[in-house]
Amino acid sequence: MKFDVLTLFPEMFQALQESIIGRAIEKELIDINLINIRDFSKDKHKKVDDTPYGGGAGMVIRPDVVYDAYNSIEQKENAKVIYLSPQGKVFNQQKVKMFSKEKHIILLCGHYEGIDQRVIDEIVDEEISIGDYVLTGGELPAMVLIDSISRYINGVLNEASTEEESFSNGMLEYPQYTRPEEFHGKKIPEVLKSGHHGNIKKWREEQSIKITGEKRPDLLNDLKMQSN
Ligand code: SAM
Repeated sequence: MKFDVLTLFPEMFQALQESIIGRAIEKELIDINLINIRDFSKDKHKKVDDTPYGGGAGMVIRPDVVYDAYNSIEQKENAKVIYLSPQGKVFNQQKVKMFSKEKHIILLCGHYEGIDQRVIDEIVDEEISIGDYVLTGGELPAMVLIDSISRYINGVLNEASTEEESFSNGMLEYPQYTRPEEFHGKKIPEVLKSGHHGNIKKWREEQSIKITGEKRPDLLNDLKMQSN
């Protein structure tokens, strides 16, 4: 999977060098190419933004600079172009799975008051928000997409990790325990030591329903609506 990221702050993406995603990059399972929008400014001071027409607070990123940055990407005919925006569809696990089937994703990160609408209309296929709140830029949301999508790329995780986790079947995952067997007077559930796979599976399913009902009853309601 190839990610091209159009951003004014490529240094922020250092965080992706760590842990599982860092290893996926090393193994060339994913390729993250950072494109600094500022490099495409024709201004002698490398300015990329200007005041909004009609007045108002803040600065807007110019369409021509963003377009030239986008245009520098080679072989983008089959790429999906996503603009990270608080106005987009809210990101969820279904979208993660859908996007993981793409071969090439271009992520456009806004900053300041955002990006001139005309270039968004021209190059963007889909707008995605990571939640109903406003951040200073699209860099953190872009990293959220890269991290979550990469987990579904073959070889990044062992497959079972994504099969049973929260949201995979519309519910939250059961609680997990490891050593020591007793911690601050609390013992692990007996059934997990039984070695009886059927009983363990049943206990985990029951826990998953219980926890989803307690923490996210809306998910159970969604499942009921889908089955009706
Ligand atoms: N003026 C815009 C509005 O009110 O809709 C908000 C601009 S925001 C301060 C700057 C940039 O941060 C946006 O262009 C977008 O790329 C990114 N951003 C902010 N909140 C986001 C969110 N919840 N999800 C995805 N991207 C977000």
